Amino acid sequence: MFNIIKSLYWELLSYFVPEKISYEITGQCKKCGKCCNYMYSFDTYTEKEFKFMQFLYPAYKRFYIKGKDEFGNFIFACKYVTKEGLCSVYDKRLAMCKRYPAPRIHYPADLHEGCGYTVHKKLFKDYLKKE
Ligand code: SF4
Ligand code: SF4
Repeated sequence: MFNIIKSLYWELLSYFVPEKISYEITGQCKKCGKCCNYMYSFDTYTEKEFKFMQFLYPAYKRFYIKGKDEFGNFIFACKYVTKEGLCSVYDKRLAMCKRYPAPRIHYPADLHEGCGYTVHKKLFKDYLKKE
């Protein structure tokens, strides 16, 4: 429980850091459903913390713990993804689903193998070009 409070505190602080990591996103969705079936949370380490997160954000009740990876990290899935890998509540999907894959995030981007999108990390010289 202490870990999740600490994570929420860090998350809150992170909003006051002006720079996020920026990526250029190319490609398009192949509708494989992997991103709805295999998700990670950087802030959830135990089932108790997961329940607490769902208590804080009721919209996350759509997610359930599917298992763990080889490192012991939880893998989550959404109960609204169909067997075909499509979203059954497309018009009511979460903002984070609409933004995925987000071009500006707090954490290093990593997509599922075979995802139709590609993330290109912006290099220092790319920032210089824009300024
Ligand atoms: S993993 Fe990539 S290609 Fe597959 S559904 Fe998600 S965004 Fe689309
Ligand atoms: S709400 Fe839809 S798009 Fe979002 S995770 Fe669930 S199935 Fe995927």
